[in-house]
Amino acid sequence: MIEISDLKKVFPTAGGPFTALDGINLTIPEGKIYGIIGPSGAGKSTLIRTINMLERPSEGRVVIDGEDITHFDEARLRALRQQIGMIFQHFNLLTSRTVGENIAFPLEIAGMPREQIQARVKELLPLVGLEDKEDTYVAHLSGGQKQRVGIARALANQPKILLCDEATSALDPQTTQSILRLIADINGRFNLTVVLITHEMQVIQEICDEVAFIEGGRIIEAGPVREVFTNP
Ligand code: ADP
Ligand code: ADP
Repeated sequence: MIEISDLKKVFPTAGGPFTALDGINLTIPEGKIYGIIGPSGAGKSTLIRTINMLERPSEGRVVIDGEDITHFDEARLRALRQQIGMIFQHFNLLTSRTVGENIAFPLEIAGMPREQIQARVKELLPLVGLEDKEDTYVAHLSGGQKQRVGIARALANQPKILLCDEATSALDPQTTQSILRLIADINGRFNLTVVLITHEMQVIQEICDEVAFIEGGRIIEAGPVREVFTNP
């Protein structure tokens, strides 16, 4: 479970301090797919990046499984980030490397022995439908295939949490469908907690259990998707 309380993020800017998150309270239950939706500039990306402390809050707390991660030092944050996978709109892959090398990357950072890395990569490839692409250079893949590599890389260290930052926004509708199905499949199979941000309502309705609407750094409504969308 992820508990976010009274979260504030203020950025210093040339025009003075800018409040990007203004008192966010959210409880994200374990094993669910939690969607955060809102317009561009609402604070979605800043919010999701506080869950792995890529963004340090100015005020408030992020508690994961009872542990307040807000004041973790760098060593504890590195360990935490191995338990939190993340995927991105523009995939953030090493494009001059192969699929296998990209998936192996977080395992190398974690210090896993070479043979174990190879075995783990072989296990991850079929999970994302890329069993015949291990030696293909990422530059030669379609957008959907690139995101599958991103998902495999995010899952490499068997995380408990998967953060998705506009993961389907660069994909066509059909490819979006297949990536959403894959995320839902992985969520069910590994009891993974998924937090995804999007500006597309369809993504929320398609796979999310719960949703929070964010605007101007504040939550304006939150709850189970069925309830939120059947309100009169
Ligand atoms: P969203 O993901 O909903 O589009 P963001 O979280 O990226 O929104 O940004 C929220 C607001 O905070 C935007 O107005 C953005 O310009 C501002 N912002 C984000 N990061 C920074 C930063 N490092 N410095 C200053 N302002 C920032
Ligand atoms: P165990 O980990 O006890 O062997 P699981 O059912 O949790 O049993 O996992 C079975 C296999 O599925 C693991 O060996 C691992 O390769 C894979 N797996 C488990 N959790 C995840 C995860 N969060 N992300 C990716 N793969 C996972």
